[in-house]
Amino acid sequence: MIARRFTIVTGADNPVLRTVCRPVDQAEFSAYARLAEEMVRYVKNLENGSAGLAAPQIGESVRILVATLFRARDDESARTVAMINPEVLEYAPTMSTETEGCLSLPGVFDRVTRPDAVKVRYTDPQAKVVTLWIRGFASHVVQHEIDHLDGILFIDRIANSKNTAQSTPISPMR
Ligand SMILES: [Zn+2]
Repeated sequence: MIARRFTIVTGADNPVLRTVCRPVDQAEFSAYARLAEEMVRYVKNLENGSAGLAAPQIGESVRILVATLFRARDDESARTVAMINPEVLEYAPTMSTETEGCLSLPGVFDRVTRPDAVKVRYTDPQAKVVTLWIRGFASHVVQHEIDHLDGILFIDRIANSKNTAQSTPISPMR
């Protein structure tokens, strides 16, 4: 099957990226499960250069994300999962810092500090409810994508850091 080409929504002030997304409800579940699977194919395609994708980035204001669950940054066996209506149940007390980027903010990279692990519950595209602890870099990926569902971009998480001046010229130039 040919993977659908998504058009990625960009721009820190883009209203689509600043909207709190609504949950997927039962009646529309199968249609959105298919979309989630297409999003998995997109992220698995290394040419797209992303460890994750959230539905608002393709213009859909619903609570769906895809994340590759790396155990380390160079983990080639990592699986890529789709999470429908994900919720964080618990955060680890320890923090870690990773360099993050975003398909919606081309060329912007910065270090972000987040809890080092999160316990999430979500529904997968087969309608199975999954509860999972996710640690390390993958935890950053999942938190970054959940933020998208709440209209939050990673640059918002570094607003208090001294790098702000370098990180904020993000008005889209193309
Ligand atoms: Zn992003």
